Amino acid sequence: MSNVRVLKFGGTSVGSPERMRQVARLLSVDGQTKIVVLSALSGTTNSLVSIGESWKNLRATELNQQVETLYDHYLNFINELLSSQRDEGKAVIDKHFDQIKKLTAVSFNRSSNRELLAQGELMSTKLFHLYLKECSMKAMLIPALEVVSMDEDGEPDIELIDHRLNSILKANPDHSLFITQGYICRNHLGEIDNLKRGGSDYTASLLGAAIRAEAVEIWTDIDGMHNNDPRIVPNTYPIEALSFNEAAELAYFGAKILHPNTIWPAQKYNIPVKLLNTMAPKAKGTVVSSASEPGSIKAIAAKDGIIAIKIKSSRMLLAYGFMRKVFEIFEHFKVPIDMITTSEVAVSLTIDDDEHLGSLVEALKEYGEVAVDKNLSIVCIVGDLISEERGLVKNVFNEIGEQPIRMISYGGSRNNISILIPAASKAEVLLALNKGLFKQNEI
Ligand code: ASP
Ligand code: MG
Repeated sequence: MSNVRVLKFGGTSVGSPERMRQVARLLSVDGQTKIVVLSALSGTTNSLVSIGESWKNLRATELNQQVETLYDHYLNFINELLSSQRDEGKAVIDKHFDQIKKLTAVSFNRSSNRELLAQGELMSTKLFHLYLKECSMKAMLIPALEVVSMDEDGEPDIELIDHRLNSILKANPDHSLFITQGYICRNHLGEIDNLKRGGSDYTASLLGAAIRAEAVEIWTDIDGMHNNDPRIVPNTYPIEALSFNEAAELAYFGAKILHPNTIWPAQKYNIPVKLLNTMAPKAKGTVVSSASEPGSIKAIAAKDGIIAIKIKSSRMLLAYGFMRKVFEIFEHFKVPIDMITTSEVAVSLTIDDDEHLGSLVEALKEYGEVAVDKNLSIVCIVGDLISEERGLVKNVFNEIGEQPIRMISYGGSRNNISILIPAASKAEVLLALNKGLFKQNEI
């Protein structure tokens, strides 16, 4: 393990000149090697996505307007952030906006659209680097596009990332502060691509894994992962410690603070992931590591927009090979399945994306009657839940009371109980479970 730390700052942490200055203060050079991963300024990726849509739909006037508005935002930003480096800052944004205009001047294509989306992170890192220079903080920019690569299946090539990143660090022993872009990467064709929305967290953990970092720190503006959804439940609190498995379940099932792919690279090399708050840097936040506390319920999370598909077939379900055929259809359309329950005559499963729903249903009809239910939510209870623990499931169902339940999944791992309910009852279920499972939090 190296003593390098990887620190990722999200869009809001660099979203205003003041916040960017604060990030610089947090990094005050102490000699320890740090790799800083930045998102685009908050709102930028959304704007670039809309610019891409206007471009695709041939709405030229709207497109020009959107580009101008974004440019003005950056112009104000550099005027406020920089003084001695202002001309350099202006040159940076002019260069990237020229590129945006050049890209969108020709007809739309997906590969150039991905290049368009990459401009946000390219600008935020360069502007931050200039600001550090202005503060006489020595730092080096690492182009993520020369380090982070994906293979044909869209999976990161950790060995390659490892090799490239370590060569850069070795070749620059006089530097201890490195800045790089989150989110962006090269695909197997060598084109500019990205790790999907929110992917800067994933970049941080890939880089952390590649250099076997001491820790990966995800800096946002809340004080860690909470034990329930703070938008719905009052008096939630940050969870001090989570195991990798618990954090992966929570990230996937609704806790927006962390991109779900962040956990596996860190888990693979046993690198702790800390969730910290730029607004309260001394707060403990949440530490995700291999340690776990048996028998404890850590958190409740919910994921919306869930679709349940039921395939009923009295004739075929018991025959071996039936499940395989059903799963192959999902595999064919590259649609991941979240929850599954089976009975003698039917299998129900859930997905969270309706892009291929029509084709899936058509293909599944070959194996039985198919029914689709939309507007559902998965509520997920996460912890180190030993199945022998008496009364645990009873507590959960007592709290849910009369609420309708569409599916239940328990025992798949020791870390989660998932319950599928109509989206309309989500708030009530979260509140009821909170009251019953986190007694210390009662109000
Ligand atoms: N800027 C990208 C996004 O908004 C990536 C990230 O911030 O993690 O999705
Ligand atoms: Mg994020």
